[in-house]
Amino acid sequence: MIGLVDANNFYVSCERVFSPALEGKAVGVMSNNDGCVIARSAEMKALEIPMGTPAFQLEGLRRRGAIHLVSSNYELYGDMSARLAQLLRDACPKVAPYSIDEMFIYLDGLGTTKCLAIGAALRRRIRRHLGLPVCVGLAPTHTLAKLANHVAKKQPHYQGVCLLSENSSATTALLKQLPVSDVWGIGKRLANQLAINGIHTAWDLRKCDHKRLRQQFSVVLARTALELRGTPCLQMNALEQPRQRIMTSRSFGKATGIKAELYGALQCHAQRSAEKLRQQRSLTRAVLLFLSTNRHRKDQPQYFPRAMVPLPTPSDDTRIILAAVREGLEQIYRPHHHFIKAGVMLVDLVDTQQQQLSLLQRPAKTHPHLMETVDAINQRMGQGTIHFGMTDAQAPWQLRCAHRSKRYTTRWDELMEAGTHPGAIQAFTSPP
Ligand SMILES: [Mg+2]
Repeated sequence: MIGLVDANNFYVSCERVFSPALEGKAVGVMSNNDGCVIARSAEMKALEIPMGTPAFQLEGLRRRGAIHLVSSNYELYGDMSARLAQLLRDACPKVAPYSIDEMFIYLDGLGTTKCLAIGAALRRRIRRHLGLPVCVGLAPTHTLAKLANHVAKKQPHYQGVCLLSENSSATTALLKQLPVSDVWGIGKRLANQLAINGIHTAWDLRKCDHKRLRQQFSVVLARTALELRGTPCLQMNALEQPRQRIMTSRSFGKATGIKAELYGALQCHAQRSAEKLRQQRSLTRAVLLFLSTNRHRKDQPQYFPRAMVPLPTPSDDTRIILAAVREGLEQIYRPHHHFIKAGVMLVDLVDTQQQQLSLLQRPAKTHPHLMETVDAINQRMGQGTIHFGMTDAQAPWQLRCAHRSKRYTTRWDELMEAGTHPGAIQAFTSPP
């Protein structure tokens, strides 16, 4: 049996763990630079405020206290996600994280009763240890587990845990009324094409001849149909493959045309990319950097340059990557432009362990343990504790995040404070 553990309104739930006052309120999490809404609590959804609503349009509601908007706090969400994965690993032999808040667990050889009990126990445990509400979907395949999770979320009588076996009447009934667009991996466009071919529900897709699907559509869709029948054909280890390129980019809080400031932003992205590169044990052969001006400002000169800087030997050393970034910036920089975005992409990656790296290609390490040490310190003390170059928190490219919660779980200086309320201390110390 395969289980999918998925946190409910993950970003909002992370915020609520540390600000219980947000419980039961309409809460929205905003995108980088506090631009628009990217996550909503159930209460916010009930107000019919769509995803992507620009924050400025909600200013009135916010001021009246009808809704609460917070800046995104990715460091907090990332850490809560890692804790969720760890908690699952402690309980299950095999766990495959699929996204920041969705993780597959594998309960091989266990019967339905046992699986349901494990699902319910995990749910309670995650709530108690992390404070996060999750739902668990259980089924013989990934695609059905995803649907089971969907049902667990939508139908309260399941109490957060739903099991769909391949041939049960419950599964049949569900698939018959479920639009095909709700099936994992089927987007709007594909759903439209399927509708033309008379496939409207998940049940229609399940009944389809998979050979026909393969010929007419794709192997992937044929596999989805088989998965709906309960025949496993998706391998999650495909998801664990190291990435082929690593990109870090961000819009600026405010536009800038000053070269030193642009380098500051690129430097920050390059370090983050290099860290991800080492995490997946790869080396990069080339560094691509890019800048963009604001497309919407027709009154300003537009410029979207990019530079690709090949490295002499594949490397994962931040210093070498930063040197390439500096070189690239020199190539593309032009004054009198207002840039609004910058990014660094590491391309043409090779595995550190790969045997075919000839002796000549192997990176010459001057300080073999330097990068390991930097990563270890940052992992222990919080991202960016030590880094190359100066960081200016006031630089125009820094993100606007006026309403960001503290990074409670990753920064010593942002720990939750207790006992600041005098009454609370007294209640705590007075004898019963
Ligand atoms: Mg979720």
